[in-house]
Amino acid sequence: MKKGILLVVSAPSAGGKGTILKELFRQDGNLRMSVSATTRQPRPGEENGKDYYFMSREEFQELVAGGRMLEHAEYVGNCYGTPREPVEEWLAQGLDVVLEIDVQGGAQIKRLAPDCVSVFITPPSMEVLEKRLRDRGTEDDETVRKRLAAAREELPHAEDYDYIVVNDRLEDAVEDMLAILRSEKRKYVRNPGFVQQVLNR
Ligand code: 5GP
Repeated sequence: MKKGILLVVSAPSAGGKGTILKELFRQDGNLRMSVSATTRQPRPGEENGKDYYFMSREEFQELVAGGRMLEHAEYVGNCYGTPREPVEEWLAQGLDVVLEIDVQGGAQIKRLAPDCVSVFITPPSMEVLEKRLRDRGTEDDETVRKRLAAAREELPHAEDYDYIVVNDRLEDAVEDMLAILRSEKRKYVRNPGFVQQVLNR
């Protein structure tokens, strides 16, 4: 069985990755989403086991100590990590797995699994990002400023990623993601022995 692709997706906050991923999952049945563990409090509407595995710092540290996290990082005062087991099982089954993680986690995965594919989703401009944040209307001025500042810090990390996807028109961004997966699957190194099979037929 051919191993699945490990797809790392990072984006600055409010980069719109949620909407893109939702549509991507609707269109590609071979994808699975890794559910992260976190020590932060659930936001209204978030479900344990679906959005995150919410846990105490002690529980989190125990998982890390037991080698049960593929990567982990601290982000704005909370711990976040990727549980190892489901990711390894899905990949072994030939399913492609998405890790929606921050740039620190992305760097760890790239070292651990150099054959992963990393995508950085960026807004088309800071102006558009600011407008989206304001139009959402859920954030006050101070929060909007903080998120914009965070985005300015995160964006330069795009240089460590394999691909950049601009979140301008949703359909284009989703199409780009599908195209990335498709061409990655056609890479020679991901198809060892294929030519030999052809010769044997
Ligand atoms: P939020 O608290 O807004 O859900 O997520 C904050 C940040 O943590 C986002 O950049 C998100 O991508 C990142 N994040 C979520 N899960 C993980 C994880 O398992 N590992 C790492 N390194 N970052 C994560």
